[in-house]
Amino acid sequence: MFEQFDLDSALLGGITNAGYKKPTSIQELVLPVAMTGKDVLASAPTGTGKTAAFILPIAQHLLDYPRKSPGFPRVLILSPTRELAIQTSEQCTQLTELTDIKTGLITGGVSYDSHKDVLTKNTDILVATPGRLLEYLESEQFEARDIEILVLDEADRMLDMGFSDAINRIVGEARWRKQTMLFSATLEGAGVLRFSKEVLNEPVFLEA
Ligand code: AMP
Repeated sequence: MFEQFDLDSALLGGITNAGYKKPTSIQELVLPVAMTGKDVLASAPTGTGKTAAFILPIAQHLLDYPRKSPGFPRVLILSPTRELAIQTSEQCTQLTELTDIKTGLITGGVSYDSHKDVLTKNTDILVATPGRLLEYLESEQFEARDIEILVLDEADRMLDMGFSDAINRIVGEARWRKQTMLFSATLEGAGVLRFSKEVLNEPVFLEA
């Protein structure tokens, strides 16, 4: 039951509207740990419910600590592809629809103009692909100083796709973050584990 977690009733309402009856096993594992603010290293392929496993604790944090003044995004979720970023932002919007939390999306393959609102209008949760986000960071249209929580989703795929330099730059800019969560379908390749050691601080390891 989702009621076992200390989630706001607006989030429980979002879960009901999404049609989720009970937590998946990765959600059972990740939620209680992520809600303590600890770093998470999770091995969880697509289809396990990993997205809601990180969105719900993030949303709870934003509700517990409302924004004091306007600013840049407080949460950054990096996704390897435009398709995954779209799906993730849709799940964020659905689960938080009964709250004031605002989700924005930045990906390549669309006009620069279409991101104006996301970059200027108090987005709380930003879902982005690394390439286009780095362009905004370098042209100083995006600032990572307000990022409190960083999620590296499908980190194995992002590294395989050659995004490691872009991610390292973005992670470096988000250096005031309090929590980092890394999700990967597999932790077998040496690349992900080595990378996780650089970006995570005493993570709790969880496996779906
Ligand atoms: P994901 O692994 O995050 O890509 O999620 C796979 C699919 O499962 C998505 O369509 C989710 O909306 C759905 N889902 C996530 N959590 C649950 C749940 N607890 N019960 C039913 N469906 C879920």
